[in-house]
Amino acid sequence: MAIKKIGVLTSGGDGPGMNAAIRSVVRCSLSNGLEVSGIMRGYQGLIDEEIIRLNHRSVSNIINRGGTILKTARSKEFKTEEGQKQALATLKKHSIEVLVVIGGDGSYRGAQELSEKYNIPTIGLPGTIDNDLCGTDQTIGCNTAVNTALESIDKIRDTAHSMERIFVIEVMGNHSGYIALEVAVGAGAEDVIIPERPFDYDLLCQNILRGNKLGKISWMIIVAEGAAKAYDVSDTIKKMTGLETRFVVLGHVQRGGTPVSADRILATRLGAQAVDLLMKGESGKAVGVLQGEVNVVDLSRACKRENDHIDEYLELIKLLR
Ligand code: ATP
Repeated sequence: MAIKKIGVLTSGGDGPGMNAAIRSVVRCSLSNGLEVSGIMRGYQGLIDEEIIRLNHRSVSNIINRGGTILKTARSKEFKTEEGQKQALATLKKHSIEVLVVIGGDGSYRGAQELSEKYNIPTIGLPGTIDNDLCGTDQTIGCNTAVNTALESIDKIRDTAHSMERIFVIEVMGNHSGYIALEVAVGAGAEDVIIPERPFDYDLLCQNILRGNKLGKISWMIIVAEGAAKAYDVSDTIKKMTGLETRFVVLGHVQRGGTPVSADRILATRLGAQAVDLLMKGESGKAVGVLQGEVNVVDLSRACKRENDHIDEYLELIKLLR
């Protein structure tokens, strides 16, 4: 039986390009004669019955905007059976037959539950700045987040070089060192600390002292927030080397801002693909782009991926130091 109504939500941490994905889902659905419901604040909005009707105009002028017009949340309640049953009741009440979930690995696990346990056809779109999902080379938002962080780090580099100082810069990434590694290579940093690999402070300080003797007095060390705190790293370096060290935490600026073209285009392609899959009766899948081509994997396989380039990038950083 042909579907009549589709729902769309954004969940977990927001990322630039989520709005472009919403726009694509909404307009592709409308073009195919479907009604569209927007669910506010991720899975929590399903529990609290925060549902809005979306039309062509609802998504006007958002392709270039960061954040998400549907808001996003982390919902503990949705992890419980009671919460999920409430969410299901909202879907039934509003006659939402199929669902597009835009988010990271946690959101994918929620989508999998809806599809497998409750038989709601659900498709996941990779919306996270961490780039840590399987089945896609890049997630929506990661490209912009890296560029935003780089812009700030370039400015810090100017002062690090002029003042001849050591700078420790903390970037986002609780479990994923993706942003840290990308910006470390892109900014020409001397070292990087990521959650996926152990870190040797003795070696770092020996390198700094050796470099210092040879006249190298400015260093940039990038730290992923989940691996260490910039303040602690800076303090350790100061104590171990006796050299002036500063720290900067880039924080939430990395999540916001205008999405770069790669994120907008990825989001637009994947939004269309998600609608197409749902209209064909598919469920429990995640969409992505692998080597330029749209790719579909089971949600169960899409969760959590370790960056393939960690060791190559670490080696590069060492070589170019
Ligand atoms: P980000 O990568 O930006 O952190 P995310 O989607 O991984 O995004 P999470 O907070 O891990 O963010 O997950 C978002 C929401 O998905 C959770 O708040 C919860 O409502 C739901 N969720 C997470 N794990 C599960 C699970 N095992 N079962 C059901 N729902 C889940």
